[in-house]
Amino acid sequence: APTAARPSSSAGGQTKSEKPSRGTAMLQHLLLKLRATGPVTVAEYMREALTNPGQGYYTRGGGIGESGDFVTSPEISQIFGELIGIWYISEWIAMGKPKAFQLVELGPGRGTLTGDILRVFNQLASVLSKCDVSIHLVEVSPKLSETQALLLTGRKVQSNPEDNSAYMKGVSKTGIPIFWYRDIQDVPAGYSFYLAHEFFDALPIHKFQRTEKGWREVLVDIDPEVPDQLRFVLSPSSTPATENFIQPEETRDHVEVCPEAGVIIQRLACRIEKDGGAALIADYGHNGTKTDTFRGFQNHKPHDVLRAPGTADLTADVDFSYLQKMTQGRTATLGPIKQREFLKNMGIDLRLQVLLQNSRDTATREQLLHSYDMLMNPKKMGDCFNFFALLPHHRLLHPDKKHNPESKSPFSPVAGFGELLLK
Ligand code: SAH
Repeated sequence: APTAARPSSSAGGQTKSEKPSRGTAMLQHLLLKLRATGPVTVAEYMREALTNPGQGYYTRGGGIGESGDFVTSPEISQIFGELIGIWYISEWIAMGKPKAFQLVELGPGRGTLTGDILRVFNQLASVLSKCDVSIHLVEVSPKLSETQALLLTGRKVQSNPEDNSAYMKGVSKTGIPIFWYRDIQDVPAGYSFYLAHEFFDALPIHKFQRTEKGWREVLVDIDPEVPDQLRFVLSPSSTPATENFIQPEETRDHVEVCPEAGVIIQRLACRIEKDGGAALIADYGHNGTKTDTFRGFQNHKPHDVLRAPGTADLTADVDFSYLQKMTQGRTATLGPIKQREFLKNMGIDLRLQVLLQNSRDTATREQLLHSYDMLMNPKKMGDCFNFFALLPHHRLLHPDKKHNPESKSPFSPVAGFGELLLK
């Protein structure tokens, strides 16, 4: 196994530096809008707060990392991204080593995860030697795409106006071409491995409340009692979203639905069905059982979702049962499986031992053990984060049931989800 540590990236890249006036500007924008056209859905509010082209939280750079608002697994430990890199290589081998693949990451944040994956690809270059690999990043935030470019290519990257799909282009430090897009639809068709880590939880949700008069959508409005403050209200009657998104057999009293996640999953499933590949999705979430999960984070502390929009991260748990439904049977799905089980199946313990043996100083060893605990401890990230995969149906068929028994790729269990296949 590769033994090198990733270069420290603590300097630079952190782009959270906001004058208070910016936060107020977003609130003023929303107040004007609400006064003019009335309450908006939670989805509309969330979209504005996170990705408004001028003032959105992510547009302005987000606060990912220790000095920001929230920290993610790839930022905690290099092992996380390395094991995911190995997952893709193992799937590439299991699928018969296709001549080329695109690695497509949705919402790459600071670019750390792709950086760790690229290091694994480089260390296993002899395995991948005849394969044409390219990286495709789907990112709406211009600030974050700059951070990603700096981390992955080592320099500022020119915008790419002549190409109307990719808005930026560069080459990784290891010589692999990287392209940036605003939308998954802009990514060229072709055999692709998709990756979404803490991406789906940032997409806008609709919220619904069961009342005596039936389902009502939760909306955001101006609080008439307090100047410049927002509040939640219920729609006076059912809205188009209520009609479309609530299942008749629903038993919960409060439901969150993320139609944009459904649309993106449909696209991924169509692309995998048509061109081959796989998708690996990791996020906190549930299987259609949780109710009110909409929350905000600022400075690693809970933050009132309606206060100072644009200055805090807003997020909601991912409903994996909904994602599975939205594949519409075009692909097989595996999971959700808990992060600690997935990483254990991927060999995190062995990898930790190698890194511990190769680190001389106690500080590094302690850091390695601490980050392992953050990722794996059921009370920390081990239980609430889940892995979920989309795979072509044929990938999960037993070899003797395959149409082509001469196939060069013998059936092998899908790494990470090993346990699920034993049944
Ligand atoms: N995957 C990273 C970052 C997670 S934060 C990590 O785990 O550290 C969410 C990321 O999704 C950010 O990069 C944000 O800018 C991006 N994002 C949010 N909404 C998006 C959208 N609608 N389309 C594309 N990217 C989006």
